[in-house]
Amino acid sequence: MNENQDEPGLRITVLGCSGTYASPESACSGYLVQSATTSVVLDAGPGTSMELQRHIALEDIDAFILSHEHADHWTELPTLYHAFRWGIRRFHVPTYGTQGTRDLLHAVIPEALEHAFEWTVINERSRVTVGDITFTFSTTDHPVETLAIRAECGGRSLVYSADTGPDWSPERFDAPIDLMVYEASITVAAEGDGIPHVSGREAGERARAAGVGTLVLTHVPPGEDREERLDAAAKGFGQTATLAAPGRCFVA
Ligand SMILES: [Zn+2]
Ligand SMILES: [Zn+2]
Repeated sequence: MNENQDEPGLRITVLGCSGTYASPESACSGYLVQSATTSVVLDAGPGTSMELQRHIALEDIDAFILSHEHADHWTELPTLYHAFRWGIRRFHVPTYGTQGTRDLLHAVIPEALEHAFEWTVINERSRVTVGDITFTFSTTDHPVETLAIRAECGGRSLVYSADTGPDWSPERFDAPIDLMVYEASITVAAEGDGIPHVSGREAGERARAAGVGTLVLTHVPPGEDREERLDAAAKGFGQTATLAAPGRCFVA
C-alpha cells in the first residue's frame, strides 16, 4: 500500500485525448500513469510533450509504453528525442512498444533508437514491470497490432483501451479493473459501419461486463458531440461516465 496519503496509489493524468487528430483544445493520445514512486507515459501522440511537462520533468519519466503504430499515438517521440539528446542529454530511456511502432520510428529517425529510447518489443504475452507498477497487455480489434494496457500497483488497477473496434472487450484481461480509460471515437449512429473504433454505448457495455469501477471516455475526434458519447456510455455502463480532458487526473 501507498504510505504517502497525499499521493494516491495509482493515477492517470490526461496529456492529450483528441481522436485521430489534434483539436484546438487537445493534443492527440497521451497519458501519464503514476504511483507514489513511478511515472510511465502511455502513448506519445503529437503535441503531448507540452502537457506532459506541466506534470513531470522529462528527467523523471521512468518509461514509455506505446500502444500501436498509428501516428496519433506515437509521433511525439521524434520531438522528445530532440529533448532527450540535445536538451537534457538523457539517454536510453526504457521504451516498450510493438514491432510496427519501432519500425516506423526507425524509418523516421534511426538515431532515436540509438540514443534516446531503449526499445523493447512487446506483444500481448508481455509483462512489463517499471518500479512498483506492473503492466500487462491485450491485443485489441484494430487494423494494426494494438495493445490495450493494464497497470496494477498496490492492489489498484487501471486499463487504457488504446484504439479498438467492437470485437474486443476488457474482459480479456480476466482481472479486476478499478478505472478504465476507454476510447469512444464513433457515434452510436456509426456502429456497424466497419469503422475500427467503438461508440460510447459499446464502450459502456463492455466496461460493465468487465466489472469496471470508473469509466472515462477518450479519443473523441475534433468537433464531434461529446455529450452524445456520455449519454450513450451511461446507458451502456449503467452509471455515469466521465470525459477525458487535458490535465485531468483520475485515481484508480
Ligand atoms: Zn487513435
Ligand atoms: Zn489506431
